[in-house]
Amino acid sequence: MCGRCCQDTAVPLTVNEAISWLEDDGKVDLYVEADPWPVEPASDNLRAAHRKRRSFQAPCGTSNARITVILVASFAGPCKNLNQEDMRCRIYERRPLVCAIYPTEISPFIQLDPANKRCPPEAWGAGDAILQDAILHALIEKSRQTDRDDAMLKSLLCSEMKVDVAAVAGEGFIAYERDPEQLLAALRHARAVDPANLPVVKPWILYSKVAEKIQSLGAQGFQISNEKRPGDAYTFLWAQTKN
Ligand code: SF4
Repeated sequence: MCGRCCQDTAVPLTVNEAISWLEDDGKVDLYVEADPWPVEPASDNLRAAHRKRRSFQAPCGTSNARITVILVASFAGPCKNLNQEDMRCRIYERRPLVCAIYPTEISPFIQLDPANKRCPPEAWGAGDAILQDAILHALIEKSRQTDRDDAMLKSLLCSEMKVDVAAVAGEGFIAYERDPEQLLAALRHARAVDPANLPVVKPWILYSKVAEKIQSLGAQGFQISNEKRPGDAYTFLWAQTKN
């Protein structure tokens, strides 16, 4: 209850959590990245399998990409749910999964490093005990499963919100700010659709700041650019960490 992790941060949300956040008058953005996916990686490529589970496939130029969409509640200063009198979360019982899991990592490819976390030194008194916590492991598994369940719903969400540009993974994210009312309606609609009846995914465009990458991926048939089309409204965010 130091409240440090509840300030100046970006909280990834599941589809259901994003709906609740918006219903509580919060703001949610979409962060989008893409892995060029010309052929299916080998089955023993665990990192690719992890990326695949939390993304959906989309055509891109004459090739394919895997699109990962993250719903994000970002804020400067304290979270709107943080009670600064006692540093308790006002929505503790229904706080986002990521909040419940912090400071452990959801990605199996990121090692927990206390130096990268905001927790004060005394919070690490339990040492490795945190990594053995069964409830925490169940929450991490639930988060990974929800990522998988939400992935295809997000393809419909992006189609409805006219979101079709993604940063090349590892380089950064394309961040879309959308009208909260429209986003809430689109999320509710996506959640109500039978996953078996989702529409065909429309073509996507890759975005990169790196000239060599634009050239090499373009030569492989991907549609890739660093220029906005008329009417495009998004921001490029450099990646801070790779996952
Ligand atoms: S929802 Fe609660 S736990 Fe999560 S950042 Fe906000 S105050 Fe902290």
